[in-house]
Amino acid sequence: MTKNVTYKDIGGFSLHYWGRRWKMGVGAIALMFVAVATDIVLPVYVGRSVDALTRVPGDNETAIGAFVVFAVLGFAYPPIRSASMFLWNAFAVNTMYDLVSDAMRKVQRFSSDWHANAFAGATVRKITRGMWAFDVFEDTWFMGLFPAVVMMIGMTGMLAMHVPVIGGYAAFCIVVYCAFSVISSLKILAPRFRYSAAADTKMGAVLADIITGNPTVKAFGAEGREDMVFDAAAVNWRRRSFAAWQTAQATDFARTMMRMVMMVGMFGLAIWMCIHGRASAGDTVLVLTSFFIVGGYMRDVGMHISNLQRSASEMEDVVHFWLREDEVRDSVAAKPLATKDGGIVFDRVTFGYQGQTKPVFSDFSLVINPGEKIALVGPSGSGKSTFVKLVQRLYDVQDGEIRIDGQNIAAVTQESLRQAIALVPQDPVLFHRSLAENIAYGRPGASPDEIRQAAAEAYADDFIGNLPLKYETLVGERGVKLSGGERQRVAIARALLADAPVLILDEATSNLDSISEHYIQKALDNLMRGKTTITVAHRLATIRRADRILVFEHGRIVEQGTHQDLVHNHMSHYKKLYDMQALDLVG
Ligand code: ADP
Repeated sequence: MTKNVTYKDIGGFSLHYWGRRWKMGVGAIALMFVAVATDIVLPVYVGRSVDALTRVPGDNETAIGAFVVFAVLGFAYPPIRSASMFLWNAFAVNTMYDLVSDAMRKVQRFSSDWHANAFAGATVRKITRGMWAFDVFEDTWFMGLFPAVVMMIGMTGMLAMHVPVIGGYAAFCIVVYCAFSVISSLKILAPRFRYSAAADTKMGAVLADIITGNPTVKAFGAEGREDMVFDAAAVNWRRRSFAAWQTAQATDFARTMMRMVMMVGMFGLAIWMCIHGRASAGDTVLVLTSFFIVGGYMRDVGMHISNLQRSASEMEDVVHFWLREDEVRDSVAAKPLATKDGGIVFDRVTFGYQGQTKPVFSDFSLVINPGEKIALVGPSGSGKSTFVKLVQRLYDVQDGEIRIDGQNIAAVTQESLRQAIALVPQDPVLFHRSLAENIAYGRPGASPDEIRQAAAEAYADDFIGNLPLKYETLVGERGVKLSGGERQRVAIARALLADAPVLILDEATSNLDSISEHYIQKALDNLMRGKTTITVAHRLATIRRADRILVFEHGRIVEQGTHQDLVHNHMSHYKKLYDMQALDLVG
């Protein structure tokens, strides 16, 4: 999924977000530059004051002068650096805010197919991890690597001006050290951290899957089995992370040794030159002070490069989201759907899922009149669900067109299309919010009276009235605190409020108790009044009352008519289906 993300993409992504807040970023970096510059010149004044003091006779005035400059620079550094960081924090927190909001906005709108194939838990982790990785990424570039590079170049330049031999030696050491840091990070550490991040995602996804599937796990007493499934993922994570961390430690050791070689060499050279009268005591102090300052920056270079590498690989998923163009898109000229009475036309539609050799529908035509009540029946896999998904434009057709009230649904905005369709799914998902909010989802801003009226029409007010907090009762995560029948009635109330001209009902296959069944049927009668209705039917009551039953088989309508028409034809597919148990009527 992330295989197409390149460094160029990560660069484009970063520039996109930095560009939006560039003034703040540039201000912070400029201040950081000034702070580093003060750091670079500090050793010069240390050396100068030592030279003045060791001169015979001593030059106290110069020594004190150099000391004063040293003190001023020393005290100037913290406020400049802090000002830079204040500005930087504002920049970083805003870019992270932009990133996470965009990612959420975009992922939310990805196709249902995408969501069906993605683990919700893993997607959440990818977004939040990407946000934090971007924080590390930008911090590393601008508050880590940039000051370090400026410092290393500035310090070697300053050394070369005072003691050219040692400046040359330091430059050589820094180049070798940086080359080693870059190569070890990119070639040795990066692949290991990438494997470890993949194992981390996988482990999170397995965990989310097991926790979400907990009712099934319990039903089968399969906790032990799931422990093993999770353990396999956790062991893999442990193995890969261990390899990555230990390798990082080993390269860190190598870098520390290289810094020691540099320090010992610089100090040795300074003493040797001093002995041979080619450098002063002040120069030796200057060299050592320089090393201690630049060494601190160098120590972090390896870490910066590892961080850069790690954060770049952890950002791959959000960059991928950023780049991803959804299959179903609004066209540039898309206008809102202008609804009238909800007539639906399938005009020579051909559609197959990606990777399918034979399309589900070929050259499929159908007219559904405004206000007509249609029931879809047929064996499992015959195309009923696909049909309703096409009406909602969850997929684009490959040929032909679908029109609602005369407008091609591919040419209108998806938002307006979906607002024109109210959906009561098989297994309604409720938000972990109050019942009132859940019902008002169909019409944001609905008044308490409207909510109550919708609930009454959906035969939901009785059971809601018996709940401790009534409409303010919080529904458990995914609505598990309500029974299937109750959730359905909440979904019907939602759809009632939405008051859309087209209604899609996907009836629950599971058996409801007869009281629930009775209420739901009455609620649906209220809901369906005056609406064009397509029902994926599993219940006899619905089928009997439909204006027209469409019998699907292999993506074709093999028969259509009212229940009476079809059931009296003894040769019909419908009669055969009907003669089987009511529950076996459809798939
Ligand atoms: P029904 O609702 O009548 O049971 P569907 O519309 O779900 O039938 O399925 C029609 C055909 O399309 C079946 O062969 C099914 O396997 C296939 N199909 C359904 N959904 C997908 C999908 N997301 N990707 C690929 N094939 C699918």
